[in-house]
Amino acid sequence: MHVVIVGGGFGGVKAALELSKRKVGKITLISKEPYFLHHATVYATATGQSSEESVIPLHALFADHPSVTLVNDTITHIDADRSRISSATREYHYDKLILSLGSVTSFSGVKGAEKYSHSLKTLSAIEAFQDHIHEEVVRKELDSEYVVIGGGQTGVEFAGALDVYIKNLKTLYRLKKSKAHVTIVEQEPRLLPKLSHTASYKVTRQLKKQGVRVITGQRVENISKTAVTIGENLHPDATVIWTSGSEPNPFYKQNTPTFHLDDQGHVFVNPYLEAFDDVYVIGDSNSVINNDTAWSAVAQAKAVARSITREAQALPKKKFHQGRYIQSSPVGYKWAYVEYFGIYVAGVSGWVVRRWIELYSYCQIMPLKKALPIWRAHDLSEIDTSLD
Ligand SMILES: Cc1cc2nc3c(=O)[nH]c(=O)nc-3n(C[C@H](O)[C@H](O)[C@H](O)COP(=O)(O)OP(=O)(O)OC[C@H]3O[C@@H](n4cnc5c(N)ncnc54)[C@H](O)[C@@H]3O)c2cc1C
Repeated sequence: MHVVIVGGGFGGVKAALELSKRKVGKITLISKEPYFLHHATVYATATGQSSEESVIPLHALFADHPSVTLVNDTITHIDADRSRISSATREYHYDKLILSLGSVTSFSGVKGAEKYSHSLKTLSAIEAFQDHIHEEVVRKELDSEYVVIGGGQTGVEFAGALDVYIKNLKTLYRLKKSKAHVTIVEQEPRLLPKLSHTASYKVTRQLKKQGVRVITGQRVENISKTAVTIGENLHPDATVIWTSGSEPNPFYKQNTPTFHLDDQGHVFVNPYLEAFDDVYVIGDSNSVINNDTAWSAVAQAKAVARSITREAQALPKKKFHQGRYIQSSPVGYKWAYVEYFGIYVAGVSGWVVRRWIELYSYCQIMPLKKALPIWRAHDLSEIDTSLD
């Protein structure tokens, strides 16, 4: 059997590892980037910590898996009748296909957002943000305000880390006159609107204590090269980082009617995560509820690998059941809020738990021996001290 997997993120990598372990046959993992991006730590990488903890070469993950062939390519089309997918240059035949293409940033129609704001979604976006800060430091002119749009988990963890980073840069490069500060904006009445009220309260209090300005219940109306309008107020001399909202990968919309989509563009899948015969869609882009976490992508990958193996053994497939996953939000230096089934821990102890969660998440895609040095890289600084 030839299983083709598209997407080198949590879902795709985990599915390939599981199928390799189960010895189902030949596996081809196609991804448009040659690395795995560990999203949970990009907030740290973007704010002066090591890139080692976030950018992991795919070949390192599959060095001990000879049945997995890695291909660097971007898939654009599916021909389900002929069991083939294709890119601009090549066609691939599959017996079983697993698509785990992740999501893309949604700018919710805000004028100027796509053109002028930074994002954390891809490595090139993170590098563009780092270059921007680097240029400002070389000019010795930080902007007055760094506005993080979106008060979800990504926005919260990034705002906290950015505040620490900006303060470090001011000290390191003696930018005493700089008024640079961080603002986080959420259009809902509270930060972390999808989490508990306790989570919102604790995290908001910690951000404010640190010095981050919190604006809730206001919408970003317009973003230009150097300014942002929040509600009716213009914030000049600002760098904007967009963390709000995502939408399913456009591949599926581009391949309708092959895929059936809900109103937001998620692919309808059956309880076995099949979009149709022999084609599975897992991770951020399918119609499973609360599926926008790495934990959900990993659980779905395991379920699909199990189904494919059972089918090969002429056994009935098993349905996927969505679980409830632990929620964690780091804020600034060694502080985090962690919650599971209504029980929470916040502060330094929350931070310790969060660090263990990160180690556990690396261990989903590599053995502990490989995971440890990557996990420890978190403490390595990439702030360039040679610019002075
Ligand atoms: C900044 C950020 C922070 C996050 N923090 C957390 C967290 O702390 N905890 C948590 O549980 N979740 C977190 N998430 C969410 C989590 O990362 C995703 O839910 C998870 O990665 C989804 O897995 P996936 O396999 O569907 O997609 P992804 O991991 O995004 O992988 C998609 C892969 O598909 C590839 N690809 C896309 N299109 C094509 C194509 N046409 N052809 C070939 N390859 C393609 C991409 O290059 C990528 O390798 C975060 C997300 C972001 C953006």
